Amino acid sequence: MQTNFTNDQLKDKENKSSETIIRKCVHCGMCNATCPTYNILGDELDGPRGRIYLIKDMLENNKPANKKVAKHIDRCLSCYACMTTCPSGVNYMHLIDHGRNHVEKTYKRPFLSRLIRNGLSYTLPNPNIFKILFLISLIFQPIKFILPKFIRNSLDLMPYKLPNKTLKTQKVYPTETKKIARVALLTGCVQRVISPEINESTIRLLNRHGVEVVVLPEINCCGSLNHHLGKSKLAHDSFKKNINLWYEEYLNNGLDAIISNTSGCGTTLKDYGFIFRNDTDLKKKAKKISELTKDVTEYLEESLNLKFKKDDKEYKIAYHSPCSMQHGQKVHSQPINLIKQSGNKVFDIPEGHICCGSAGTYNILQQEIAKNLLKDKVKNIEKIAPDFISTGNIGCMTQISSGTNIPIVHTVEIIDWLTGGPKPYKLKNL
Ligand code: SF4
Ligand code: SF4
Repeated sequence: MQTNFTNDQLKDKENKSSETIIRKCVHCGMCNATCPTYNILGDELDGPRGRIYLIKDMLENNKPANKKVAKHIDRCLSCYACMTTCPSGVNYMHLIDHGRNHVEKTYKRPFLSRLIRNGLSYTLPNPNIFKILFLISLIFQPIKFILPKFIRNSLDLMPYKLPNKTLKTQKVYPTETKKIARVALLTGCVQRVISPEINESTIRLLNRHGVEVVVLPEINCCGSLNHHLGKSKLAHDSFKKNINLWYEEYLNNGLDAIISNTSGCGTTLKDYGFIFRNDTDLKKKAKKISELTKDVTEYLEESLNLKFKKDDKEYKIAYHSPCSMQHGQKVHSQPINLIKQSGNKVFDIPEGHICCGSAGTYNILQQEIAKNLLKDKVKNIEKIAPDFISTGNIGCMTQISSGTNIPIVHTVEIIDWLTGGPKPYKLKNL
């Protein structure tokens, strides 16, 4: 695609990167075929190609975003299905991140929209504040039918009760056998509150296989929630804190990997190197953190020799591949291969490349589109009629479980269970 940035504009390193991305686009429109929002809304501006044009126009002409541009940029899920489809290698992820930051800096949203977005940006990345929000939600659950639709739908995504923790919170979880490696685990912000069993399974499984796990208590959020809300200052504060803390741990005590068991967070961690590519102080550290980051299934497959025990029953498992995992990190076969090793039947969900509608805060901010996507996802899952669903992202787990009674568990919980750990509590009736 031809671009018309001036030399002065290209002195800005963000503009320079975006220009390189835009120039790769040959406007063939193939990406529209797999874009969920284009398929639902049928508007060119709700597809990747249209959004590329909108971002190009704002950046080249130094234009502030307006209501129309913000609407179409906000409707993007950041699912990156378009990146998998694009034959030209357009890095849409970096472009939409730049576009979102520009919208946030130059467009004043209506008061209610600002209030909701600021509320999400403040509560979700802070586990203690999120716990308070959860307690407040319990008061409103019984009377939600009288509340406005937006709040009712948001409450539908909140759990009714929090599972009991089975592992004591500590900084270092030592191995049960001879130590072969040492990794840091990102325990996440929302995940550690609503599904502590995911981190517990990860720690138990790694410890049982000779891997010491360190959880740095100062690290809460990876920063991606704010990153995708276009709140770059808050996101960068989290990024910098995490990079410095993990790098210090890496230098002082050694780390073989940084494990993420939430694919949305893993995608952002793997992007720290790019985000700080022009920062003289953090460049080297951020690159190292990104290089060390692995999705838990990637690490298990590459680094450990797991011995599976066959359960009495053979289960039919539907594998939901989170967008951030399959399109963002290109990790798809690893979780499937691992579950298959347990002797169970694993099925890809039809139309599995399409998002379930979770996408960070998308199912709160774009409820109608998210509900449409959820309906299709559940319909496709039901075609398989699985005993349960496996996935690798807490956001997808929350979204899908709001639309079906089929149990959904994290892949690491299944692997932990089938290599000697406890059966996931959600599967106790199977
Ligand atoms: S598929 Fe790639 S090259 Fe074609 S329009 Fe989409 S982004 Fe541009
Ligand atoms: S990231 Fe997803 S929703 Fe956004 S343009 Fe690409 S395919 Fe469409």
